[in-house]
Amino acid sequence: MSKLRFEALKESSSRNRILIEEKGRRSELFAQNVFNEQRMLQYLTKDALSSVQNAIFSGSKIDRKIADQVAESMKGWAITMGATHYTHWFQPLTGSTAEKHDAFFDLLLDGRALEKFDGSQLVQQEPDASSFPSGGIRNTFEARGYTAWDPTSPAFIYETTLCIPTIFVSYTGEALDNKAPLLRALSAVDTAATAVAKFFDKNVSKVNATLGWEQEYFLIDKALANSRPDISLTGRTLLGHSAAKGQQLDDHYFGVIPGRVLSFMSDLEKECIKLGIPVKTRHNEVAPNQFELAPVFEEANLAVDHNLLLMDVMDKIADKHSFKVLFHEKPFKGINGSGKHNNWSLATDTGVNLLSPGSTPMKNLQFLTFFINTIKAVDTYEELLRSSIASAGNDHRLGANEAPPAILSIFIGDQLSRVLDELEGVSKGKLSPEEKTELKLNVVGKIPEILMDNTDRNRTSPFAFTGNKFEMRGVGSTANCAKPMTVLNTIVAKQLIAFKKEVDQLVEGNGLKKDEAVFNVLREYIKTSKRIRFDGDGYSNDWQKEAKKRKLSNNKTTPEALKVQTSAASLELFESMNVMSEVELRARQEVEMETYILQVQIEGRVLNELVYNHVIPAAIDYQNIVLQNVMGFKDIYGEAHKNIAECQLQIIEQINEHMSQLKQKTDTMIDARKNANKLTDSHKKATAYAKNIKPYFDEIRYHSDKLERLVADQIWPLTKYRELLFIK
Ligand code: ADP
Ligand code: MG
Repeated sequence: MSKLRFEALKESSSRNRILIEEKGRRSELFAQNVFNEQRMLQYLTKDALSSVQNAIFSGSKIDRKIADQVAESMKGWAITMGATHYTHWFQPLTGSTAEKHDAFFDLLLDGRALEKFDGSQLVQQEPDASSFPSGGIRNTFEARGYTAWDPTSPAFIYETTLCIPTIFVSYTGEALDNKAPLLRALSAVDTAATAVAKFFDKNVSKVNATLGWEQEYFLIDKALANSRPDISLTGRTLLGHSAAKGQQLDDHYFGVIPGRVLSFMSDLEKECIKLGIPVKTRHNEVAPNQFELAPVFEEANLAVDHNLLLMDVMDKIADKHSFKVLFHEKPFKGINGSGKHNNWSLATDTGVNLLSPGSTPMKNLQFLTFFINTIKAVDTYEELLRSSIASAGNDHRLGANEAPPAILSIFIGDQLSRVLDELEGVSKGKLSPEEKTELKLNVVGKIPEILMDNTDRNRTSPFAFTGNKFEMRGVGSTANCAKPMTVLNTIVAKQLIAFKKEVDQLVEGNGLKKDEAVFNVLREYIKTSKRIRFDGDGYSNDWQKEAKKRKLSNNKTTPEALKVQTSAASLELFESMNVMSEVELRARQEVEMETYILQVQIEGRVLNELVYNHVIPAAIDYQNIVLQNVMGFKDIYGEAHKNIAECQLQIIEQINEHMSQLKQKTDTMIDARKNANKLTDSHKKATAYAKNIKPYFDEIRYHSDKLERLVADQIWPLTKYRELLFIK
């Protein structure tokens, strides 16, 4: 065994397995480190409090004097909590979060020291952020970018730093981050959904999008992870033969959580609870070493922040427990990859979930309105929604018959399908009193509050209705949920505005009653959005063919998927909803294309290094041992012995064959990379990486994995799947 592999295994097996499950009430710890309403009530004056509350509710501005007061109180609280620094916490287009810490500590002119933090520092900062990707919005010579306080997501203390969630915009006002467009999309859906909800209840004055994400991840022992260059640099294994035992026995899914892992989870959850992340569910996932964590759902902007914070906290706590967390969508070949289901709904400030069927026909008509409009929105913008979850990592799932396919479709289950079928048959225009009664009692009135399909869900659907929310299943485990949430809320906003206009026209122009008008428009939507509904097996080949007939998009790679982001329809959508300008859209597309290229490029380079510096040298070492053995035979027995060392010679030949294939494929891949790098257009370059380079990865892997099976275990340099994957 190589020295590195031996040391890593020795270190991992000596891990301390003392298990501590924390005890006590989590509700008492909850949000202890958050400057939430409860804290504000305690620390802010009445004026300051109501100003912040207004900003949260309606987006109104907070004036400078009030901001000073808020900053002063925040500082006071943070210092009593042991904080020494503050930072604006933001989401650049890299996909993760960024921070730059400043100490509260300051010096007066006369040399006296004090702790300082005022309104201007709370409200706006100008980080030297010229190295963040901007897709060309900012040239480095005019690199100014500002972060600005987002009062809708409360400040929190992590370790000894007060973190203030902010948006990140350029000097000229364009969003350089993922949060600003999300906030605009949430505002658009609020306005549009509130107007429609008022059809049913005049008291509604705000609608919040809600999000409950489910985070899947792998845990690997830190020493073992560090022993693999591919895991360290790309977050996934580029080589490695499957272990004899994988997930075929289904013995990991929902199984007993291993002690070492439970200890990590317990520590992690405690930290999350203090930070106000309402974690609730934890369990083993399908693949060995794969787990899931899910919180109670929250308002979407806050939920997105909490997911990003969680990923950060997970990294840190894992390190403390000598684990490495792998968020990659496909860290291991031959076993399941990871995703991040986004459960989404709309909730009114009167406490109603607009996607939850109710106990009266009127409530159900409201439910059907939002339900059918969502279906219609997804049907119209299916390709755009799919593009919002495109990434190099997620291509391993969406384009590769694993988890939901690259085709978007909606599963609604038998009961609701029947209801929609019946609604479709409703006659056009005015309804007779009998028709109305029939409709209300026997169609709309019959939707049960708890839907049976809840227990019988279609796991292969990328967008499933699960009783009182839609569940978007294609989101990648590394993703910032802001991206799909921005698209989903924008398209639903756009759709609801169109719906309201059509209903108003029927009422005002054609003299229909409001409920008749609603039925009429919904009936048309049911007819025109049928192709997006699919309750069958999303993994099957038949569906690929059927989806093609239905003219649904099927973009299997990121470069293909990203194209639609700047189509005329997408530009019109985002501009008309005030979510993103053309400049912002083109910039994002450019950044994502570039990120894709860089990720595949890094994988290619690592693979190159693994083949030349690890695999081939090991194969040669072992081949030499066998050759020695053959020569020994010949020395003793001479040529006279029949079939001399036949088995050994076969092994030498096999090693030779795979080694030469391995080298040849790697060299061809390197040439293809050099050619691709000459391209200047980022879409063409990304396509070259997807079509001309990435396919070699599997071929290279094939020969390396064969060599792994031939070469003696004690010589093989890379930690094996069976060693990486079974935490006790
Ligand atoms: P699973 O999909 O694993 O069976 P559940 O259906 O229980 O799990 O819920 C998954 C997630 O859905 C949880 O994170 C939960 O908070 C979230 N969720 C439940 N109701 C809503 C809602 N109205 N809006 C958004 N998310 C929700
Ligand atoms: Mg789920």
